[in-house]
This record gives sequence, structure tokens and C-alpha cells, in this order.
Amino acid sequence: LTATAVRSDERCSTDRPFAEVSGADLTVPLSGGGTCTYANFDYAASAPALAQVTARVQDLLPYYASVHRGAGYASQVSTASYEGARDVVAGFVGARADDVVVFTRNTTDSLNLLAGCVPGDTVVLDIEHHANLLPWKKNGARIVRSADTVAETVQRIVAELCSKPAALLAVTGASNVTGEVLPIARLAEVAHACGARILVDGAQLLPHRRVDIAELGIDYLAFSGHKLYAPFGAGALIGRRDWLDAAEPYLVGGGATRDVSAAGVDWAPAPQRHEAGTPNVLGVAALAAACTALAGLDADASERHERALCARLVDGLRGIDGVELLRIWSDSPDSVGIVTFAVDGCTPREVASYLSDRHGIGVRDGRFCAHPLLARLGRPDGAVRASLGLGSHAADVDRLVAALRELVDGRR
Ligand code: PLP
Repeated sequence: LTATAVRSDERCSTDRPFAEVSGADLTVPLSGGGTCTYANFDYAASAPALAQVTARVQDLLPYYASVHRGAGYASQVSTASYEGARDVVAGFVGARADDVVVFTRNTTDSLNLLAGCVPGDTVVLDIEHHANLLPWKKNGARIVRSADTVAETVQRIVAELCSKPAALLAVTGASNVTGEVLPIARLAEVAHACGARILVDGAQLLPHRRVDIAELGIDYLAFSGHKLYAPFGAGALIGRRDWLDAAEPYLVGGGATRDVSAAGVDWAPAPQRHEAGTPNVLGVAALAAACTALAGLDADASERHERALCARLVDGLRGIDGVELLRIWSDSPDSVGIVTFAVDGCTPREVASYLSDRHGIGVRDGRFCAHPLLARLGRPDGAVRASLGLGSHAADVDRLVAALRELVDGRR
């Protein structure tokens, strides 16, 4: 994350967004009067829709109908779109032929669903977003305290997995607080060697990196459409069939059964078993459209674009006295475009409000649903997060850095 790692040609390519996203020309009011173009640094919360996603939703709207069992043409079109989306999502994440794609509401829903299916203990790190902590904690998870280095943290995970049998290791692909990335293939190896499976919370990793679950050895992957350039309300859980077929569904109702009689309920196999109720047809179509659009981008080029912007942002923030960048590990092998910081003498809310009201810049402040991690990083009252995405470009990064410098200088 240093400027020296960025070649000059990469810097040039960051002059414009990497892809077309909704809201790029959004105009917002300023507290001193007037307006300006919105600068979005809140991709990690929810990413704006890609142009292809918006187009897909518009195309499907005339055929919008309830899926499955409907004989009408609109229902047939919707059903084909919904079921076709499973193949698209499976292909996007490199699923194995016998993996199941369950459509859920979001990552939280996916993780709660899986938590009801795990036949044994779960081991989890204390750095996780609450979505990847609380469902396991509810089951009595074994929580590993993260060390100051990735190497030592991996050792602690190994020690915990070896100490007594566990069914699952649940880890995030990328921290929603610092963007730091764990060595997933290595953790998968470690988990498998100890007889456990691995679940990766892909909510923050997938929007930034190609993930191939077969290649990485991931058994289960969860993610949210709204962080992947699609609208809210659709997510997925992808992975091994046996646990999903063996467990009772946590949401019960229509569509999840083969037969209901006085004798009892015969649950359908996954994915239907875990998709009770009328599904989110448009959301799933949009999610699949986002996967298709992302798969069509040059992944190496988009990664270079983001790394260059991130380096520019980190360098800019390091140049401001009184701004402290937060990191979990001193030896992180990689990070995605998420930068979290604190400003001396200002609460996170004051910083975020200043950036928004005076400069039309959208960041996130608070504890990012990762309270144990913020406490561990010495910021129990929270911090400020600036996150990048496909619509980010250099002028916005410079705007953010200049606004923060103005805030800090104004306080002197
Ligand atoms: N996991 C991580 C790493 C996240 O960043 C988030 C959301 O910020 C979640 C899980 C939960 O995602 P959702 O609210 O879409 O369920």
C-alpha cells in the first residue's frame, strides 16, 4: 500500500471510474449553500448498481411473476431467470459440480442458515463482522483471539483446530474494517488437515477479488448482492450439499417441502429446502447480472486500478498529522480497497459529518458491526471508513484527502 508500488501508467488509468455505476452524477446539497457531485467512499456498506444490473432489472420487469409451478408465460420467464441465476452464480465463484447454490437475503441470512446445519463445533476469529460471529457464538463457538501477525494468528487457529475436533472454521475473506485479507487457501488446507470444513464470509472479498472456491478449497461461501453492485435483498450461500440436505430448514413454509400430511413433513432437498416463501426473483436476477458483468471485466486491470487508488489514499492520509490508519496485522499479505482511520481530537461522527456537509463526501463512521475488533484496535468508540469500488477515481480520492487536511488544519 505504498505509492512506490504504483507505476505511472496505473496512476493515469485512475483518472476515470473503472466501470459505470449508478449515482455517478449524483448532486448533493452542501451546508454552506450550493451543491456538488457526490463522492462515494461507502462501497463496503453497499455498492451502487452496475449499468448491466440496472438494464437487467428493466428487461425483466415486464415478466415479473412468481416463480415455480406457474404455467403462465411470465411465470415461466421468471422461473427460467431464477433457476438460471444459480448456474451463473455457481460459475462466478467456481463451484464444484455437486455444490448447491441457495439464494438468501444477504450474507447474514446465509451465515445464520449454515449455522443451523453444522454438525459440530465452529472455530471463529475475534476480528469478524457480527454476521460471521454471532450465529456461531449462539451455537457455542470456540473463538480464537487474533494475534498481531497473520502468521501467529494462523498458528493459533491450527492449535485450536488440533486441540479437539471441530466441524467448521468460519473466517472472513477480507476484513470489513481494514480490508486486510487472510490466506484462505492455507486456512482451507489447515482446516481440512484437522478434519474441519471452511466457510468464507465473502461479503467484502468478492467485490474486489475473483474467488474460485474449488481452487481455494473453500467448502462454503456466503455473500450479499448489495455489496456486489446489485440491489438489496438477495445474497447466496454456496457449498457442499450433505450438511444442507441433512439439517432442518431454519425458515419453514411453502416451497421447502416435497409433501406435508398428517404424518409429518417431507422436506425437499437443498436448495429448495432452505428457500421457503416466495423468492426475490428480481433481486436474484440482478445478482446474477452483477456476477456476469464482473466476470466480463479484466480482473487484473480492475485490481491494479483499485490498488493504485488505495495507495494514493493511504499516502494522502499518512501525510496528514493526527490521522491514524488502523491495521489488524503487521504482516498482512494483501488488502482490498478499504481504509479505516481516526482523526485526533475529532469523533468519528464529527469527521464523517464534516466530510458530508461541507464536501459532499460519503464515508462511514462507527464500529462497523465489529465491536470486538474496534476495541482490540484501541478504538472502542469507533473510527472512519473510506472504501473504494469500481466507480472510484483519483479526483475523488484527492478531494477526500484535501477535505481531511482542511478539517485538521482548521482545528489547529
Ligand atoms: N460480513 C462482512 C465482512 C460484512 O462487511 C458485512 C456487512 O457489512 C456482512 C457480513 C453482513 O452483510 P449483510 O448485512 O449484507 O448481511
